[in-house]
Amino acid sequence: MHISDIIEILIDFRNRREWKKYHTPKNLALSVAIEVGELLEMFQWKKDDEILKELENEDYRRRIGEEISDVLIYLLLLAHECEIDVEKALMDKIKKNEQKYPER
Ligand SMILES: [Mg+2]
Repeated sequence: MHISDIIEILIDFRNRREWKKYHTPKNLALSVAIEVGELLEMFQWKKDDEILKELENEDYRRRIGEEISDVLIYLLLLAHECEIDVEKALMDKIKKNEQKYPER
């Protein structure tokens, strides 16, 4: 499955619920930040070794996966509303990073 297929599923989901009117670039960018906050809550006040121990717990990993998904969903919707080809943008950025940070 390509990213564009996932975006299509997300657009269909939101259109069937008539949520397009809420999905302005600003609202989607705010939603990305809010969901990142929810993801960060999963790690708040925990030391690295405590997090590694918790990651052995399936429910903890599931909840982190849900927050990562929330972030990705809003990022993909934001890219769509900004008419950004996110697959191309991602690959261009990876290539740019390869040039910026050469191997040792
Ligand atoms: Mg969330």
